[in-house]
Amino acid sequence: MIQPNKSLQAYNTFGVASTAEFFVEIFDRVELAAFFKAHTTEQITVLGGGSNILLTQNLSGIVLKISLTGIEVVEESPQEVILEVQAGESWNDVVSYCLDQDYGGIENLALIPGQMGTAPMQNIGAYGVELKDVFDSCVAMNRETQEFEYFDREACAFGYRESVFKQKLKNKYVICSVRLRLTKTNHRLTLDYGSIKDVLSQSGIDNPSIRDVAAAVISIRQSKLPDPKILGNSGSFFKNPIITKKTADQLKVNYPQLPTYDTGDGQQKIPAAWLIETAGYKGFRQGDAGVHKHQALVLVNYGQATGAEIWRLAQSIQDKVEKEFGIRLMPEVNIY
Ligand code: FAD
Ligand code: NAP
Repeated sequence: MIQPNKSLQAYNTFGVASTAEFFVEIFDRVELAAFFKAHTTEQITVLGGGSNILLTQNLSGIVLKISLTGIEVVEESPQEVILEVQAGESWNDVVSYCLDQDYGGIENLALIPGQMGTAPMQNIGAYGVELKDVFDSCVAMNRETQEFEYFDREACAFGYRESVFKQKLKNKYVICSVRLRLTKTNHRLTLDYGSIKDVLSQSGIDNPSIRDVAAAVISIRQSKLPDPKILGNSGSFFKNPIITKKTADQLKVNYPQLPTYDTGDGQQKIPAAWLIETAGYKGFRQGDAGVHKHQALVLVNYGQATGAEIWRLAQSIQDKVEKEFGIRLMPEVNIY
């Protein structure tokens, strides 16, 4: 059923006020294809869990909430399992399901908000693991032809918080389901990132299970990241910039503390949080729009901020960081 003038405040984790001219929730593929076929001239904005968007205005046209559900084992061997998950399933529920089944591979990605169908969009990642590490394939509907097409890992062109769906094929496909290739035995744990090992050893765990790793990740996340249910936010607002080694070395002359991480292809990743903090913005607040006091990469809504106010704050951060370091931060969050 199409609903007119629908408030989107509960549908975005920033919790900003915005209205959709029309709103519809879609529960299966047949309905999805029929909807696009019947609405060729209208503007359609696809919505998942709303945890990676900033709504700076009311949305004209139709907002289409993806609510396809289902989790199914489609292939299995003694070592591996391929799980097919429909796009509307909550990512963190899938992580919990996998922990219950002892399927390994996504334990470091615990507590990331959002839906399964959105996970390939920016190749979600955290604590040294990215979706691409377990991604088998996905099926996406071509918005123009309404055909369902198969994308393997190569076709998705995954990069650091990037994929073909955010670049060349932006707004051309709706991802309907994703297949994950997970381990049933000999789980390959990623423990070297940040304080995972410290948290495990503080709990006296020498030989962690995937559940132990997920619990460590959850406790680290809860200690520094704001819960959107309590303080509106969309996670990291900007992408970590990737720069050449030469530029990084030049910056280190004036900023010897600048943290850099080798990306493996001769480039250096710079934590955007460090740039924002050094530019003086950590904990900054303007009205109800602010920069989180524990993590400068997360912009927050203290209650009544509008999307436009948060966007103005983001732009002032971009300008100040560029002036100070010569690096223009690019939003990771999708701006509407
Ligand atoms: P939405 O915000 O609903 O949509 C994002 C974009 O994808 C929109 O442009 C939308 O049109 C499009 N889209 C949505 N569904 C589909 C679909 N089925 N097909 C095609 N296009 C679609 N991200 C990380 O990578 N790592 C993290 O550790 C992380 N931590 C976070 C922590 C917090 C507290 C928050 C609030 C966010 C965090 N994020 C993180 C960002 C966010 O959770 C992810 O990017 C997530 O995948 C977004 O999913 P969503 O369903 O909420 O997307
Ligand atoms: P953090 O651990 O304080 O690290 C700060 C930054 O340094 C991160 O952005 C991270 O890059 C980089 N980094 C740290 N250790 C690294 C290593 N060993 N190798 C390569 N890069 C390293 O970051 P945080 O804010 O608390 O977040 C923890 C993890 O959750 C990170 O992976 C982060 O990406 C993820 N996260 C993402 C979002 C989002 O919305 N995208 C929100 C919250 C948390 P990477 O970001 O590349 O890991």
